[in-house]
Amino acid sequence: MRPTGHLIASLTISSISFKLTHSGQFFLVSFLAGILIDIDHFIDYLFYCKNINFNLRNFYLTIINLKLRKYFLIWHSFEFIVFLWVIKLLWINSLLYTAFLLGITQHLTLDIIYNSPKFSNKVLFYSFIYRFNKSFEKNNLFLNNA
Ligand SMILES: [Zn+2]
Repeated sequence: MRPTGHLIASLTISSISFKLTHSGQFFLVSFLAGILIDIDHFIDYLFYCKNINFNLRNFYLTIINLKLRKYFLIWHSFEFIVFLWVIKLLWINSLLYTAFLLGITQHLTLDIIYNSPKFSNKVLFYSFIYRFNKSFEKNNLFLNNA
Protein backbone atom coordinates (compact mmCIF):
# COMPACT_ATOMS: atom_id res chain seq x y z
CA MET A 1 0.00 0.00 0.00
CA ARG A 2 1.27 3.46 -0.83
CA PRO A 3 2.13 6.01 1.89
CA THR A 4 -1.03 8.05 1.29
CA GLY A 5 -3.17 4.95 1.80
CA HIS A 6 -1.36 4.14 5.03
CA LEU A 7 -1.79 7.73 6.19
CA ILE A 8 -5.54 7.64 5.60
CA ALA A 9 -5.98 4.14 7.06
CA SER A 10 -3.88 4.90 10.12
CA LEU A 11 -5.71 8.16 10.71
CA THR A 12 -9.09 6.43 10.39
CA ILE A 13 -8.28 3.49 12.66
CA SER A 14 -6.57 5.70 15.23
CA SER A 15 -9.57 8.05 15.22
CA ILE A 16 -11.94 5.15 15.85
CA SER A 17 -9.72 3.91 18.67
CA PHE A 18 -9.64 7.45 20.11
CA LYS A 19 -13.44 7.37 20.25
CA LEU A 20 -13.24 4.09 22.18
CA THR A 21 -10.33 4.92 24.51
CA HIS A 22 -10.65 8.73 24.83
CA SER A 23 -6.84 8.77 24.89
CA GLY A 24 -4.89 11.23 22.78
CA GLN A 25 -1.73 9.25 23.49
CA PHE A 26 -3.37 6.06 22.20
CA PHE A 27 -4.36 7.93 19.04
CA LEU A 28 -0.86 9.32 18.51
CA VAL A 29 1.02 6.07 19.15
CA SER A 30 -1.34 4.02 16.97
CA PHE A 31 -1.21 6.59 14.19
CA LEU A 32 2.59 6.90 14.17
CA ALA A 33 3.17 3.15 14.45
CA GLY A 34 0.84 2.61 11.48
CA ILE A 35 3.05 4.83 9.35
CA LEU A 36 6.56 4.54 10.74
CA ILE A 37 6.78 0.76 10.36
CA ASP A 38 7.68 1.58 6.75
CA ILE A 39 11.06 2.87 7.97
CA ASP A 40 12.40 -0.60 7.23
CA HIS A 41 12.09 0.28 3.51
CA PHE A 42 14.47 3.13 4.21
CA ILE A 43 16.92 0.78 5.97
CA ASP A 44 16.86 -1.61 3.00
CA TYR A 45 17.34 1.32 0.63
CA LEU A 46 20.37 2.67 2.48
CA PHE A 47 21.89 -0.78 2.89
CA TYR A 48 21.61 -1.86 -0.73
CA CYS A 49 21.75 1.32 -2.72
CA LYS A 50 24.73 2.64 -0.80
CA ASN A 51 23.66 5.98 -2.18
CA ILE A 52 25.69 8.63 -0.42
CA ASN A 53 23.75 11.43 -2.09
CA PHE A 54 20.35 10.63 -0.61
CA ASN A 55 17.44 11.98 -2.59
CA LEU A 56 13.88 11.56 -1.27
CA ARG A 57 12.37 11.32 -4.76
CA ASN A 58 14.89 8.67 -5.81
CA PHE A 59 14.17 6.75 -2.59
CA TYR A 60 10.41 6.85 -3.18
CA LEU A 61 10.71 5.77 -6.84
CA THR A 62 13.14 2.98 -5.94
CA ILE A 63 10.74 1.58 -3.34
CA ILE A 64 7.54 1.99 -5.38
CA ASN A 65 9.10 0.49 -8.52
CA LEU A 66 10.73 -2.40 -6.63
CA LYS A 67 14.25 -1.58 -7.71
CA LEU A 68 16.14 -3.02 -4.75
CA ARG A 69 18.05 -6.26 -5.23
CA LYS A 70 17.24 -7.56 -1.72
CA TYR A 71 14.26 -7.09 0.60
CA PHE A 72 14.87 -7.64 4.32
CA LEU A 73 11.87 -5.59 5.52
CA ILE A 74 12.53 -6.76 9.04
CA TRP A 75 9.40 -5.17 10.55
CA HIS A 76 7.10 -6.33 7.75
CA SER A 77 7.12 -9.83 9.19
CA PHE A 78 4.48 -12.08 10.74
CA GLU A 79 7.12 -13.38 13.11
CA PHE A 80 8.00 -9.93 14.40
CA ILE A 81 4.39 -8.92 15.01
CA VAL A 82 3.36 -12.26 16.53
CA PHE A 83 6.37 -12.05 18.85
CA LEU A 84 5.31 -8.58 19.99
CA TRP A 85 1.72 -9.77 20.56
CA VAL A 86 2.98 -12.73 22.62
CA ILE A 87 5.02 -10.32 24.75
CA LYS A 88 1.90 -8.22 25.26
CA LEU A 89 -0.26 -11.17 26.21
CA LEU A 90 2.31 -12.58 28.64
CA TRP A 91 3.97 -9.55 30.21
CA ILE A 92 2.87 -6.11 29.07
CA ASN A 93 -0.50 -4.74 30.11
CA SER A 94 -0.10 -1.26 28.67
CA LEU A 95 -2.61 0.76 26.71
CA LEU A 96 0.14 2.48 24.71
CA TYR A 97 1.83 -0.80 23.84
CA THR A 98 -1.58 -2.00 22.61
CA ALA A 99 -1.85 1.18 20.52
CA PHE A 100 1.56 0.45 19.01
CA LEU A 101 0.50 -3.11 18.17
CA LEU A 102 -2.77 -1.89 16.66
CA GLY A 103 -0.83 0.49 14.41
CA ILE A 104 1.68 -2.02 13.09
CA THR A 105 -0.86 -4.83 12.78
CA GLN A 106 -3.30 -2.80 10.70
CA HIS A 107 -0.38 -1.65 8.53
CA LEU A 108 0.82 -5.18 7.81
CA THR A 109 -2.74 -6.37 7.18
CA LEU A 110 -3.31 -3.64 4.60
CA ASP A 111 0.05 -4.34 2.96
CA ILE A 112 -0.93 -8.01 2.58
CA ILE A 113 -4.25 -7.06 1.00
CA TYR A 114 -3.00 -4.34 -1.35
CA ASN A 115 0.59 -5.30 -2.19
CA SER A 116 0.20 -9.02 -2.86
CA PRO A 117 -0.22 -9.12 -6.69
CA LYS A 118 3.49 -8.38 -7.14
CA PHE A 119 4.76 -11.23 -4.98
CA SER A 120 5.53 -14.77 -6.06
CA ASN A 121 3.76 -15.94 -2.88
CA LYS A 122 1.05 -13.53 -1.80
CA VAL A 123 0.97 -14.39 1.91
CA LEU A 124 4.37 -15.86 2.65
CA PHE A 125 6.16 -12.78 1.39
CA TYR A 126 5.43 -11.28 4.81
CA SER A 127 7.22 -14.10 6.61
CA PHE A 128 10.79 -13.25 7.57
CA ILE A 129 11.66 -16.97 7.52
CA TYR A 130 10.29 -17.27 3.97
CA ARG A 131 12.30 -14.27 2.80
CA PHE A 132 15.36 -15.68 4.54
CA ASN A 133 14.90 -18.98 2.71
CA LYS A 134 14.69 -17.01 -0.53
CA SER A 135 17.94 -15.20 0.37
CA PHE A 136 15.93 -11.94 0.49
CA GLU A 137 16.50 -11.74 -3.28
CA LYS A 138 14.05 -9.75 -5.37
CA ASN A 139 14.18 -12.33 -8.14
CA ASN A 140 13.05 -15.05 -5.72
CA LEU A 141 10.36 -12.99 -4.02
CA PHE A 142 8.62 -11.11 -6.83
CA LEU A 143 6.93 -12.15 -10.05
CA ASN A 144 9.10 -11.82 -13.14
CA ASN A 145 7.26 -8.75 -14.40
CA ALA A 146 7.42 -6.88 -11.07
ZN1 LIG B 1 4.36 -1.30 4.64
